[in-house]
Amino acid sequence: MGLLDAVMTHGVRIQRLYGETVHGRPVMDMRYADLDHRLFGLGLQRGALFSVLDAAWRSGRMLHAGRAIVTVDPATGILADSDGKQQGPYDLVIVADGSASGLRQCVARPRLDRPFPWGALWCLVPQARWVWNDELRQRYLKARRMVGMLPVGTRPGDDIPRMSFFWSVPAEVLAKGIHDVATWHRDVADIWPEASASLQGLDVPATLTPARYRDCVMQTWFRDRVVLIGDAAHSMSPQLGQGVNMALMDARTLRDTLRLEGSLQQKLSRYAHERRGHLAIYHFWSRWLTPLFQSDRVMAPRIRDWLFHPLSRLPGGRGQTLRILAGTQHGWFGKLALAPAFLGAIERAQANPPAHEAAPETPGRASTTTCARDPMAD
Ligand SMILES: Cc1cc2nc3c(=O)[nH]c(=O)nc-3n(C[C@H](O)[C@H](O)[C@H](O)COP(=O)(O)OP(=O)(O)OC[C@H]3O[C@@H](n4cnc5c(N)ncnc54)[C@H](O)[C@@H]3O)c2cc1C
Repeated sequence: MGLLDAVMTHGVRIQRLYGETVHGRPVMDMRYADLDHRLFGLGLQRGALFSVLDAAWRSGRMLHAGRAIVTVDPATGILADSDGKQQGPYDLVIVADGSASGLRQCVARPRLDRPFPWGALWCLVPQARWVWNDELRQRYLKARRMVGMLPVGTRPGDDIPRMSFFWSVPAEVLAKGIHDVATWHRDVADIWPEASASLQGLDVPATLTPARYRDCVMQTWFRDRVVLIGDAAHSMSPQLGQGVNMALMDARTLRDTLRLEGSLQQKLSRYAHERRGHLAIYHFWSRWLTPLFQSDRVMAPRIRDWLFHPLSRLPGGRGQTLRILAGTQHGWFGKLALAPAFLGAIERAQANPPAHEAAPETPGRASTTTCARDPMAD
């Protein structure tokens, strides 16, 4: 789409995914460069992604903002909004209303649709003098506590580099919120003093936003003139950090299949077939991994702490884990080939990092990456 430069202007290249216990024992230590030296993750604010996409699509669009769509008629392509107004008929309706989609029912009854019993509270905080500025970092206390920081750069109209702070909680805490502020701050400091220091002077936990996740598997992704895309088609826990990637890949595949010869039903069938083939393994792993990081279980996180890191260093396991974390695993044994032109473009982007990526000078930096500027977000 020619948007790489614009996205790189705001995003932060993430080279490493690192998670450890409160005692400093590594549980996850992955570098995208071990998969391919050109690869990196991109920490990006939703607002930045939306602005870049919005600016790229101006001609020929009619945007009705601030309307909730309540029903879609697959046979006619007519939508009804919450004011009782009808829109359409349309040749094709792309339903992209996220993980708690109320519209997916218009396509089919989900085969599985259940909320995870845990979720997260999150907010953006200034990056300031945070030292791990090219890493996603997490700390764990059993599976009861998980806290993370992900540098996510800037967004149009806000030049302050920021990080996404997230704090794992059971669903009932999400609903009630955090009232004992002093205890909460002590909790964060006990688990991760550096993260706690980054919150000083900020209005947290008041500014934390609740996020629940769902595990939803649809029987079918389309019906007549309506097709599902993104989390509406396949919501899962964000444990693997692949939701945005998958939604964007859905969009690209849908575009490509709509350009093929054939009937609309044939095109939508091909789109769904291709994307389901890619997604199934992400669904599987996110479902099985989430309780190891977010639950009240006792043994499962112990096994995680003993085995995860050693297993991820075995030759076969390492490649597969990295591909899953990069979105390029296909099925159990396949790989998704990235286009050479794309790899060339991100290699060139590596050579020109945006100004906000400059690391603060800190002598005691705990870890540096070997792949930083050598020849890889939500
Ligand atoms: C805590 C958390 C952390 C995450 N971290 C990551 C990460 O690091 N990396 C990553 O790739 N993904 C991450 N994800 C997942 C990612 O956010 C989603 O996979 C992604 O946003 C899905 O995009 P989407 O467009 O399908 O849905 P959404 O981004 O949820 O967008 C749905 C849109 O539809 C609108 N909408 C809903 N109902 C209606 C209606 N009835 N009418 C009109 N509009 C409607 C909503 O307002 C919203 O704007 C995370 C998710 C959570 C909860």
